[in-house]
Amino acid sequence: FTRLRAKLNRGDSWLTYDLANLIPGGKIDENVLDELEMRLITADVGVDTSERILSALRKKAARHELDDLDALLEALREQLMDIVRPVQGQMVIDSKYIPFVVLVVGVNGAGKTTTIGKLARIIKAADMKVMLAAGDTFRAAAVEQLQVWGQRNDVPVIAQATGADPAAVAFDALQSAQARKFDVLIADTAGRLHTQSNLMDELKKVKRVMGRLDPSAPHEVLLVLDASQGQNALQQAKLFHEALGVTGVVLTKLDGTAKGGIVFAIANELKLPIRYLGVGETVEDFVGFEAESFVDALLK
Ligand code: GDP
Repeated sequence: FTRLRAKLNRGDSWLTYDLANLIPGGKIDENVLDELEMRLITADVGVDTSERILSALRKKAARHELDDLDALLEALREQLMDIVRPVQGQMVIDSKYIPFVVLVVGVNGAGKTTTIGKLARIIKAADMKVMLAAGDTFRAAAVEQLQVWGQRNDVPVIAQATGADPAAVAFDALQSAQARKFDVLIADTAGRLHTQSNLMDELKKVKRVMGRLDPSAPHEVLLVLDASQGQNALQQAKLFHEALGVTGVVLTKLDGTAKGGIVFAIANELKLPIRYLGVGETVEDFVGFEAESFVDALLK
């Protein structure tokens, strides 16, 4: 939590910075509320979601329930919590599935491969057998990156030659994980953006082919989004969700320029569970999403 706070705020909170000085005589007026709305919008919370928050605060102000800064901060905290509380939910690996299949999707550069390494490490640490499928057959570098990581961490990686059919890789990997009774299979996928409809068709096919070996698979469709992409990430999330039925989201690069506001936009507009946050490039820089810690990190 302390690390998350340090990474999100890097000093003063972008949300509450210097608010006390904007409240001459301690009175909450329209100026302060406008300033808060601006801060939320510039932090990628988005116009709709910021409006939802501010309209609740303005109602309270009109009822004279926001008499001082403390009351304002408490009301803001409540609003933020109302948005993210419903999307808090860890990924539960159900042992009735052998293996539990996680399909990882997202555009190139979002942090899929890195996230797979981080996730595999946590699963291995929990004493489960995990296998990886190198489904981004489009990019040789992506396959190599996964293989190197797998070798270093003693995690098997199923791969084929560059240009192979990603659905065939997924099929092979699932067959192998079933035969070898692995607990979890994590499948990487391609994420080239410029041929979006082809990409979605390809991902749908991967999903379908897995379903032939296990009608309930994949058990989690995990969408990886780069938080520093702001509202763009929200648009991507809509596309992937429409095509594939996303069941969980990972937001990466919250240590960079991202202020984290996109978390609220995704929670409010898509209502998808946010599973993990990426807060750096190393495998340790990965935290489960906890609504309360996240909101506290922004407010303190
Ligand atoms: P992919 O194309 O979706 O597989 O993305 P990669 O996993 O290759 O990641 C793209 C770049 O983002 C790499 O340089 C990663 O080190 C970096 N990256 C991934 N996750 C994070 C994160 O949480 N924070 C930071 N700062 N960089 C990250």
